[in-house]
Amino acid sequence: MAAEIIVNGIILSGMPIGEADKRVVILTKEMGRMSAFVRGAKRMTSPLGARTRTFAFGQFTLSPGRNAYTVARAEISEYFEDIVKDVEKTAYGCYFLELAQDFARENTDESELTELVYRTLKALSDERIAHQLTRRVFELKLLQMNGLSPDLSVCCVCRKPLVEGRFKPSLMQAVCTDCEPEDKGFYLSRSALYAYNFIRTTRLQSLYTFAVRDDVLSQLSYVSDRILMHVWDREPESRKMLEVLIN
Ligand SMILES: [Zn+2]
Repeated sequence: MAAEIIVNGIILSGMPIGEADKRVVILTKEMGRMSAFVRGAKRMTSPLGARTRTFAFGQFTLSPGRNAYTVARAEISEYFEDIVKDVEKTAYGCYFLELAQDFARENTDESELTELVYRTLKALSDERIAHQLTRRVFELKLLQMNGLSPDLSVCCVCRKPLVEGRFKPSLMQAVCTDCEPEDKGFYLSRSALYAYNFIRTTRLQSLYTFAVRDDVLSQLSYVSDRILMHVWDREPESRKMLEVLIN
C-alpha cells in the first residue's frame, strides 16, 4: 500500500456522497488542487466532518487509494468562524474560494496561491478593511499571478510612464491624457493607477496594507471587472450570488 501524504492548505468546497461520506476539494501548498473523500463525514461522531468543512485551513493527512485520496487525519489551525457565521462575508469568501478553485492547478506547487487565499480571508475577517477592496485586491493579484493582468504602468502609444490616463477595455491597455486628449476610454486617476500597480508588484505580505477612497475603488472595480469578463467564458455562480447580496 502506498504511503500516506501530508499536505497543508484549505478546503475549497465539499459535496455529499451517499448517506455518510463527502468529497472535498483542497487547495494545497505542496500539490495544488486535490480532491479527497471523507468517510463518515456526516455522522455526528465523526471528528473529520467539521475538520473538513469549507474554509478549514490546516494540515491534512491523505491516504492514497486505487483511484482517489481519502482524508485520514486533519489538524486545523484556522476555521475562519467569523466568515462562516456572517452571510455577507460567506458570500465574499465563497466567491474567493471558487476563483481559487478555477485557477489552481493540479500536481503543482501552489504555495503562493494558498498564501494569497489565506491572507485574503484574514483581510475579510479584518473589520478595518472594506470587503469590496479586499475583493478587488484579490481579483487583481490573482490575475497578475496568472499572467492575465495588463501592464498599465506605461502609455500604450508613447510608452512614457503613465501617471493618469484612460483604460481601453478593447485593447486591455491604457493611454496617457496627452495621447488621448478626447474623452475616450475609462478615466483612471493617479491614485487608481498607483493602487493598480501596487497590487501587481507588491509581495503578498504587503497586499492588504492600504486603503483607498471610494472613487479610486470604483475605478479599480471597473478595470478588474473588464479584465475578468475578458478572461472568463462563464461568470462564477458565487459571483452572481454575491452581486445579488451586496446590490
Ligand atoms: Zn502617451
